[in-house]
Amino acid sequence: MSAHVEPDDATPVSVLFIGGVGRSGSTLVERLADQVPGVHAIGETHHLWERGIQDNQLCGCGQPFDACPTWIAIGEAAFGGWDQLDLDRVIYLRHAVDRTRRVPELLKPGSKRADIVEYCDILSRYYRGVRDVTGADLIVDSAKNLSTAALLRLVPGIDLRIAHVVRDSRGVAYSWTKKVKRPEVDGSAGTAEAEFMPEYHPAYPAFRWLTDNGGFEVLARLGTPMVQHRYEDFLERPREILGEMLASTPAADADLSFIDGDTASLDGPVHSVSGNPMRFQTGDLVLRLDDKWARELDTGLQRLVTAMTFPLLARYNYPLRGHPASGSSSAPSTSTPTPSTSTPSTSTAAPPATNGASTNG
Ligand SMILES: [Zn+2]
Repeated sequence: MSAHVEPDDATPVSVLFIGGVGRSGSTLVERLADQVPGVHAIGETHHLWERGIQDNQLCGCGQPFDACPTWIAIGEAAFGGWDQLDLDRVIYLRHAVDRTRRVPELLKPGSKRADIVEYCDILSRYYRGVRDVTGADLIVDSAKNLSTAALLRLVPGIDLRIAHVVRDSRGVAYSWTKKVKRPEVDGSAGTAEAEFMPEYHPAYPAFRWLTDNGGFEVLARLGTPMVQHRYEDFLERPREILGEMLASTPAADADLSFIDGDTASLDGPVHSVSGNPMRFQTGDLVLRLDDKWARELDTGLQRLVTAMTFPLLARYNYPLRGHPASGSSSAPSTSTPTPSTSTPSTSTAAPPATNGASTNG
């Protein structure tokens, strides 16, 4: 980590945004990044307003949102307290602005409509509040959504980088056919959220995989600072790939010795909103490829997903038939991910990859 210098108001807030499609491993990447000295992970920002403030779901530290001292302090620093926010207005803005169908407008140069400007200003105060409270050199946001990434390019006062994480489309599609519980809903009173994450026919995540990953390709072409990696490569060489994700950020050269081979030592809680159940885990985490989809996803459905996502599967060097990539075709990269397969397995149970195949759009 570079020497910590106390930021002033003029110093932009460094944000590393983990982008991609739901169930691509973003929660695991975030969890590991949060272990890095000087880095603070916040979870999925677009879910802060409803899942955090409104529904009081569990923070990654296991406490309800309104009882977590870190979140209380962030609310104070950013807005003079969460109760000072017009929450209905913020939730309205989030749904109006942070949507797939508004991405073309968000990417178009020139002045933006008032609702976009208003929401970006709220986000600007939020990120600054996070930095002021945590003292972090780098904030990691694992929102994943293409629309959120497009919005963050417009937020005043932040220095944005994107880590675009790609996972084999067939692994992603298979993951969305599974029943996954939301542990963060437990213990939160009056939540509107279902106890289980939604399940989808593989065609829907396949469609989103193609369009959303394609959208991140466009963001890169527009000059947004971005690194791209395959999740499968991350699992195979976690220390090296995490280092590459942090390169060119204030956390470049940070000590990553908590990752030793295929094992990451997770020390202490992460104060994050939303994400897959593995965000609650502490202790040693063994990182392994999970290629269950190759055996358990119906062959016809595998072919369907392959056909639907073919152009980008090939671009990312995933094999087009038969078996999951071995992860051997390493792709350190600054602009092109590479092949292999899967979900992280922990020493306890394999976590489903990631929360919310983005309910926006
Ligand atoms: Zn917390």
